[in-house]
Amino acid sequence: MQTAVSIDSKHPAIGTTIFTVMSKLAAECGAVNLSQGFPDFQAEPALFAAVHRHMLAGRNQYAPMTGVPELRQAIVDKVAALYGPRFDAESEVTVTAGATQAIFTAIAAFVRPGDEVIVFEPVYDSYVPAIETVGGRAVFAQLKFPDYAPDWGQVAQLISPKTRMIIINSPHNPTGSLLTAVDLEKLANLLRGTDIVVLSDEVYEHILFDGEQHASLCAHAELAQRSIVVSSFGKTYHITGWKIGYVVGPADLMAEFRKVHQFNVFTVHTPSQLALAEYMQDASRHLGLAAFYQEKRDFFRELMAATPFKLLPCRGTYFQLASYAGLSELPDRAFAEWMTREVGVAVIPVSVFYANGRDDQVVRFCFAKQESTLRAAAERLHQAFAK
Ligand code: PMP
Ligand code: GLN
Repeated sequence: MQTAVSIDSKHPAIGTTIFTVMSKLAAECGAVNLSQGFPDFQAEPALFAAVHRHMLAGRNQYAPMTGVPELRQAIVDKVAALYGPRFDAESEVTVTAGATQAIFTAIAAFVRPGDEVIVFEPVYDSYVPAIETVGGRAVFAQLKFPDYAPDWGQVAQLISPKTRMIIINSPHNPTGSLLTAVDLEKLANLLRGTDIVVLSDEVYEHILFDGEQHASLCAHAELAQRSIVVSSFGKTYHITGWKIGYVVGPADLMAEFRKVHQFNVFTVHTPSQLALAEYMQDASRHLGLAAFYQEKRDFFRELMAATPFKLLPCRGTYFQLASYAGLSELPDRAFAEWMTREVGVAVIPVSVFYANGRDDQVVRFCFAKQESTLRAAAERLHQAFAK
């Protein structure tokens, strides 16, 4: 249908998210899809049975705006057990429609037109559009290839009187790098005495390898007082399609968050919240995730070792970066498309996570897959790049 209005696009530079683009191309080409991050295996039937039970028991109407009390309590208990502080279930926890909504809502709640928000490149793709939608300006710090460690000296130079927020993400998508306790100390030093809010995206909080400990902002007494911490059940329980996550933070920050949350989402799927509250009671389910994914990471890295890709370190998340320098002269986006069409393995080009399209000839593979899927991908790679 033709539109009757002339559209002065608010977002002329925004195309379709790379995750949709690559998954669609993978489906069209019959490629093994290691691009968009989601598991290709099932969650436990007990979780589905619980949702069904709550539906049949009539729990099908609006949950409270902040989330069902049982789930908020389970979140408080988990955060206290892992990181120390006991947030108040009434005023300091909100259940969200996944981490994406939590991030958007937090940005909308705090960032005014003209405000600056510091983000780290490569930057997860939803942050900057959210900042710009509310009239803010993203300011870019760099996590530099190949180790992708933050440069706090650079961050210090980027802080200005207009800085309203800094967004951090550890374990980091797409690089698999981590912030350490030392990083948090440096961040705390930089922010002391300012009114800068920290938005900490910790959706991969349970996926760290080789015995590494997650440096949650919840566990940093000083930073926690200025932070909204985001997590997602999608990553933790293999249910990315449910789109349920949560935020925790000090009551005054949460009150501002909820002013926006109540009018852009109000509340999320009641029976799923009740089921998750029950499911969380068994801590081994989230505590076992690191070992579960480490096995997949190691399996995938071993398969990839027989290809000419150069694997970068992967300390957390379910993503593996690989350099194809020397294999192809193509820019990474063209290389990812070629891989999908011609090799039959879909990946994510890392340049899409840079405002200036910086291209280090690196692509991202998702290894949250069954061994058979990873093996099928590896076979195609071995054939295409037979040494
Ligand atoms: N942040 C990061 C770093 C992510 O990787 C993702 C999803 N993969 C999200 C946020 C969004 O999570 P959700 O699906 O719960 O919205
Ligand atoms: N966060 C997932 C990834 O990095 C994708 C989420 C999405 O498709 N929006 O692949």
